[in-house]
Amino acid sequence: MKLPRITNIWSKILENEMGEFFSQVVIESTGHFETAIRQADGKTMLEGAGVVANMPVGSVEVYDGLISNLYLNQIDDDKIKVIVDNEHPSEFEYEVTGELPVRFIINMERSFIFKLFHDKKIVIDPGHGGADVGGRGPVNLVEKNVVMPIALDLQKLFKQAGAQVFLTRQEDLAVSLRERREVARSCHADLFVSIHTNANVDSKVGGVAVNYSPESPESARLAWLVKEELVRKLKLADRGSKKLKAYSAMGTVPAIEVEVVTITNWVEEGLLRSPTIHKKAAEGIFNGVKDYLAGQFPQ
Ligand SMILES: [Zn+2]
Repeated sequence: MKLPRITNIWSKILENEMGEFFSQVVIESTGHFETAIRQADGKTMLEGAGVVANMPVGSVEVYDGLISNLYLNQIDDDKIKVIVDNEHPSEFEYEVTGELPVRFIINMERSFIFKLFHDKKIVIDPGHGGADVGGRGPVNLVEKNVVMPIALDLQKLFKQAGAQVFLTRQEDLAVSLRERREVARSCHADLFVSIHTNANVDSKVGGVAVNYSPESPESARLAWLVKEELVRKLKLADRGSKKLKAYSAMGTVPAIEVEVVTITNWVEEGLLRSPTIHKKAAEGIFNGVKDYLAGQFPQ
C-alpha cells in the first residue's frame, strides 16, 4: 500500500459568515488516511498513516495570538503526528476536503482572545507627523511615514479581536503630545500604545525597545510583554525597557512607547521598507498586549 505523503502545512487567521475570526491549520497530503484528532495539555494533536515528503519535519512558528507553533513529526516509518501548540483554550472543528492535494483542515475558534479585547478601548498613537519627521534612516526613510502602516496593521488586529480603536492621527499632520493625551482622555482609554522607531548616532546599533509611563505600575508589565513578543517576531536585538518621563501626564492609563526597530541602522531601515515587517511588528505588539490582558507576567 502506498502511504499518503504530507507535502505542506500552514496556518492563517480567517473570518466566518458571522464576522468571527478563527485560526485555520491546513495539512496537505497526497491522499486520504484514517486519522485521530484530540486535545490535551493545551495541544491539539492529529495522528495518521503517512510520510513527510518535500518538506522538513520540525516546527513552524505561527504566533497568531492563539497558536504558537505547529510541529510535524514522523513518529514511525508509516505514521505522522501534527501538534498544534495552543497558547489559550480553543474549541475546534475538523474537515477533510479535496483530492490532490487532500486538505486536513482544523478550524480553531478565538473566543478566548475576543473575551480579552471586546470591552477594551485602545489608543494607537503613530508618532510624529507633519513638519516633525522623527528619526531619519541612512537612506532617508523617515519615522513619521513608517509608523503609519504599522499603526494601521495594528488597528486591524485589535479590531479583529473586538476592541474599539482610536488613532491620534490618520494623516501626515503635526499633533502635540497634549492633543495625543486628549484622545486617550476623551475616550476613557484602557491602553495607550505609541508607535515609534529608535534613532542612534551609531548606524550599527539596532534593535527593539519598549518604554513606559512611570505613573501607571501596569505600564512596565505591558512594556515588557510587548518587547518580548516583538523581539520574538522580528528576531532583532533586545534593547530593553525604561521609564519615559514625558508620559507621566498620561495619568493612570497604562501607556507605552514602542520603538519597533532602529531606523538609523542600515539593515533595520531596509526592513522598514517591507510591508511584511510592518505586519510582523503589528503582530508582535498585538501579542504583547494580548499577553498583558491575559494577566501574564514577564518570564
Ligand atoms: Zn519617535
